[in-house]
Amino acid sequence: MSMEKIVNLAKRRGFAFQSSEIYGGLASCWDYGPVGVELKRNVKNAWWREMAQTRADIVGIDCSILMHPRVWEASGHIEGFTDPLVDCKSCKQRFRADHVSGDRCPECGGELTEARQFNLMFKTFMGPVEDTASTVFLRPETAQGIFVNFQNVLTTSRQKIPFGIAQIGKSFRNEITPGNFLFRTREFEQMEMEFFVRPGDDDRWFAYWQDERLRWYLRYGIRRENLRLRLHTPDELAHYAKSCVDIEYHFPFGWSELEGIANRTDFDLRRHSEYSGKDMRYFDEEARERYFPYIIEPAAGADRATLAFLVDAYSEDEVEGETRAVLRFHPRLAPIKAAVFPLLRKDGQPERALEVRDILGAHFPVQYDQAGSIGRRYRRQDEIGTPFGVTIDHQTMQDQTVTLRDRDTTEQVRLPIDRLVDEIQRRIEAPFPR
Ligand code: ATP
Repeated sequence: MSMEKIVNLAKRRGFAFQSSEIYGGLASCWDYGPVGVELKRNVKNAWWREMAQTRADIVGIDCSILMHPRVWEASGHIEGFTDPLVDCKSCKQRFRADHVSGDRCPECGGELTEARQFNLMFKTFMGPVEDTASTVFLRPETAQGIFVNFQNVLTTSRQKIPFGIAQIGKSFRNEITPGNFLFRTREFEQMEMEFFVRPGDDDRWFAYWQDERLRWYLRYGIRRENLRLRLHTPDELAHYAKSCVDIEYHFPFGWSELEGIANRTDFDLRRHSEYSGKDMRYFDEEARERYFPYIIEPAAGADRATLAFLVDAYSEDEVEGETRAVLRFHPRLAPIKAAVFPLLRKDGQPERALEVRDILGAHFPVQYDQAGSIGRRYRRQDEIGTPFGVTIDHQTMQDQTVTLRDRDTTEQVRLPIDRLVDEIQRRIEAPFPR
């Protein structure tokens, strides 16, 4: 399966459009359309639910994108958040040195320059004066907002170590080579959780979070054979990390990082203590000692995860000699949960179907469709991954029952209208795949 098919379907059905398309587009920036925004929101909600709301040992936070410039000195980003950049002397294109093999341009075969370090942070100015004193950065990760609020959260939430702080929000990186649709962009959303533990307990929690995070992707329907864990080699490790494991997904363009799980040690809190002059240590009442907690960080990308769920859900069926695309999303992630169809456009069926749409629409997103044959209407919904189809027919008008069709088995059952909401909700919550 090719990325092109995914990108085309995404555009045709309203998952994602190129940003500023009528002006020729802005490279690597994408806008989520009506069904895409639902999908991405469901991905974020699934993460938030399991990484913040339903856990007694994790709380959430939502920090501003702009932060005090000293944050990025303390974090090491000013000095070290760089990628090695090489230029082609002939066609002038730029590449990440670690993404090209050999010393020749992958586009034209020209000679490449020596690698130099390029800082990935976006700079802007705060206030009306454009001087260095007013320079601020668009955050390249959400994690730093969590670290600098460690004491605030601790004193207001009454949490005790081990505990975590979760955040979902935009990050910005001036990537040298963005691409592959939503995979690598310059503006993206992260889902990060920083889990604070006692030094010495870090290896155990590092292993725990690898398991948990892998299970999360499986629970929401990603196939096991398309996921793998890859341990970083010592020379790949970020300056703050003791160990790091990537959860990789088998994208159409190859195995690539979906999420990184890092043991950040006590680097972050230690550095912020040093740079701010504020004591960021934790006082352990039981042990009667003060220490810098170690941090285990599962850091995922909301857009990258959305792309993985989209790719993994994509399948093609042959129906009466015609190929149809079906997105087999987990019902919790599906943008639209149910579609309502009148079998005929007469005999009061459309009116009854609109009533059913309103009943369901009070509980979850639904669509109404009366155009074309019933088969064609199912296909339209299969393409956006709607898990349930509800048809109003002749019998409905007599006994208030409808048929409920399942996207994946295409099985249909008949049930009374007043049991529909419960039945659909039960199926949305049921283990997946069924
Ligand atoms: P890569 O090696 O792909 O550049 P990274 O290791 O620098 O990624 P992290 O800093 O670990 O990425 O960020 C955590 C997560 O944020 C990544 O696993 C990914 O899902 C997401 N992410 C990072 N950079 C981007 C980007 N440019 N576009 C979309 N998502 C991103």
